[in-house]
Amino acid sequence: MASVPQDGQINNWLKWSTAELALTLEDNTQEAEWLLSSLLNCTKSELYIKENELTKQQSALFEHWISSRIQGVPAQYITGWTEFYGRRFNVNTSVLIPRQETERLVDVAIYSLQELKSPHIVDIGTGSGCIAISVADEIPAATVLGLDISRAALVIAEENASINNVANVQFLQTDFLRYNPPKPIYDGLLMNPPYIPKKEMVTLTKEIRDHEPNLALTDNGNGLLFYQHLADSAKKWVSPGGWLIMEVGLGNHPQKVKKCFERNGFEHLELIADYNTDDRILKVQVV
Ligand code: GLN
Repeated sequence: MASVPQDGQINNWLKWSTAELALTLEDNTQEAEWLLSSLLNCTKSELYIKENELTKQQSALFEHWISSRIQGVPAQYITGWTEFYGRRFNVNTSVLIPRQETERLVDVAIYSLQELKSPHIVDIGTGSGCIAISVADEIPAATVLGLDISRAALVIAEENASINNVANVQFLQTDFLRYNPPKPIYDGLLMNPPYIPKKEMVTLTKEIRDHEPNLALTDNGNGLLFYQHLADSAKKWVSPGGWLIMEVGLGNHPQKVKKCFERNGFEHLELIADYNTDDRILKVQVV
């Protein structure tokens, strides 16, 4: 174990944290840079030219951050934020950390909905609000509603709308599985629900399983609960011609989700692959 720097010099702290993180992580240089630049509120390249030193308080905090990281706390929960679709999103352990693969869902939503005059869009299980806020910001004429069962998640989502100055998004606390929307007014319904089957939870890394909210990861069943409920209730939400745009999992999950909709009589379905050619988005048109 390298000894803790006795001064505040940035490069010493960078070297120390890189060495510490190397004991448990593969991407140790990247992570050390990300944590330190986040602490000092500067870019990664500024770390190498900055002449300022860490104060005693910053040094102590950074030491604590590195020890949390070594214990498996995700870096984004330590810094309290991450980047998604080019924007900053605050996170805490009440919300899933926005994933890069979910940016694909935002792409598909923009592509499918931006030509409409003033689209109404709903995001089911909004969590940090990353999907709802990005889409609202990219389609200024849209009105977006983000739903979540978790009050604590919506506190973060509201905060994220505010730090990104996005005003055409609102949030509502409700249980999608029980809620009856008053009218099918939506042109687009977006959803990245908890889809890890209960029996696959053991296959997740400890980092995910021990730190990210269970409620956001698994439906405690077969991983299809939210999709099946949507297949049963889509017409209560979405107006004719509108779109359901969902993230799906890996392996045979996309095909299983597709079947839920086919069995309920939907005919206009498309699975869309990500950059690794894995099918990750299911797009269904309601007629
Ligand atoms: N909609 C949020 C996201 O995509 C949260 C998803 C969830 O909690 N399952 O990151």
